[in-house]
Amino acid sequence: MKIIDMHTHCNCGFKNDCPENEVHKRNFEFLMKEYESSGISAGVFSYYSAILGTDEVYESNELLFKQAQTDDRVYQWLVLDPRQDMLFPQIEEKIKNKKVMGIKIQSKSQNYDILEYADKIFSFANELKCFVLMHPDKITSMLSFADKYPHMNLIIAHLYCVDQVDAIKNAKYGNIFTDTSGMDSRLNNVIEYAVERVGSEKIFFGTDTYSCGFQRGRIEYARISDKDKENIFYENAKRHFELNI
Ligand SMILES: [Zn+2]
Repeated sequence: MKIIDMHTHCNCGFKNDCPENEVHKRNFEFLMKEYESSGISAGVFSYYSAILGTDEVYESNELLFKQAQTDDRVYQWLVLDPRQDMLFPQIEEKIKNKKVMGIKIQSKSQNYDILEYADKIFSFANELKCFVLMHPDKITSMLSFADKYPHMNLIIAHLYCVDQVDAIKNAKYGNIFTDTSGMDSRLNNVIEYAVERVGSEKIFFGTDTYSCGFQRGRIEYARISDKDKENIFYENAKRHFELNI
């Protein structure tokens, strides 16, 4: 079975890297060992330096773009801070590249009000007809933006609550998704509830750098069908993106 990690990060040597310690590693080489031991073929990254601050976003997008072009295991989310004008042309230029999956937004860690900038971000994504991966923020308000901008697809990451499932279910154009990345997939009925309510086609697999064995096992041992597991691990990604894994 093929598996792609649709949501992860790593350090790249910049100032805004995420501090790592002995019990949670954040460097690329270590994460690749994790992939190898857990049978994950590739990951869609954004560097921590692009999301944990605001002054290294452009450079981080550039550097990761270079890495993605030369490494089969690396795909990219281009990070957008909507207050930085220089990022819009950068994204426009790179978005059609085969290794780029879409735009990543991180309103909480970059400290802006998602509702203030939602139109700016989502109208841009709508024009580009691309995916936006968002860290959950004001989930119940996101439905109206998904309905307003039907050519964008919105992944509300880190599946953890009923609101996310409701947003997916109620999206008029079926353009809201989620991913299983993060520690909240430990909740003992969260995957099962989402699959039952909205179907596995709306759910992508992700690790967010948490233990790959834990993340993979959560899906593998979930009380869902084999077809649902295949959808989450790989088939959904293959349906929406051009993959070479
Ligand atoms: Zn993330």
